[in-house]
Amino acid sequence: MTSVTVDPGRCTAYGICVGIHPEVFAVPPGSPLTVVTRDVLTEDDLEDVREAVRACPAQALRLVEG
Ligand code: SF4
Repeated sequence: MTSVTVDPGRCTAYGICVGIHPEVFAVPPGSPLTVVTRDVLTEDDLEDVREAVRACPAQALRLVEG
C-alpha cells in the first residue's frame, strides 16, 4: 500500500502538485494546503506522484511505501 502525505507546516497551497496530478491532489477554495483525495495510490498514480514529490518547491510531499 502506497500513499502520499502533505506536511501542513511546509505546503504553501500554490498547487504545482495539482497541475501534475489532479486526480490525487487538490487545493479547495480557501484551503491553506493541498489535500490528497486518494488514500491509497494506484500503480497508475505513482509516476506522476513521484514527479510531484520532486517538483514541490516546499518539499512538503512524502511518498509512504508500505
Ligand atoms: S507543490 Fe508542494 S507546496 Fe505546492 S501545493 Fe503541492 S504540496 Fe503544497
